[in-house]
Amino acid sequence: MTGDWSETPKWLIPHPNPVDREFWEGAHRGELRIQHCTTCGKHQHYARALCSHCGADTLEWVTASGDGTIYSYTVVRQQGVPPFNERIPFVVACVDLDEDGARVIAAMPNVDPEDAHVGLRVRAVFRPANEDLGFVDFTAR
Ligand SMILES: [Zn+2]
Repeated sequence: MTGDWSETPKWLIPHPNPVDREFWEGAHRGELRIQHCTTCGKHQHYARALCSHCGADTLEWVTASGDGTIYSYTVVRQQGVPPFNERIPFVVACVDLDEDGARVIAAMPNVDPEDAHVGLRVRAVFRPANEDLGFVDFTAR
């Protein structure tokens, strides 16, 4: 792990909207909240008003298991903006959740770049942003 990911500068605190507030508040509670479509049965992240798979507006919030698999990833090695300049190098992964249809792009602060690979099984971990909202990171299982 590089740098200190526990400090969140105020300019990085999320600004939820009515559609995605549940995601950010869930992350503060330690829950990965995603949308489930009751029409087609698939899931999605990030939160939207309509299902990205079938277009229906029949979405409900569910708590995902937090388990997933790296679909792709990158290693951030150059970043001049605080606080990220103190965190490099770090992994950012595109994670296919076990819940069908949902994919999350997230940082992996506890995974060394040498250990990241496509197909790695990962799980969600949570980091408070402030007293109401949180971030979702992923770590190796
Ligand atoms: Zn759908």
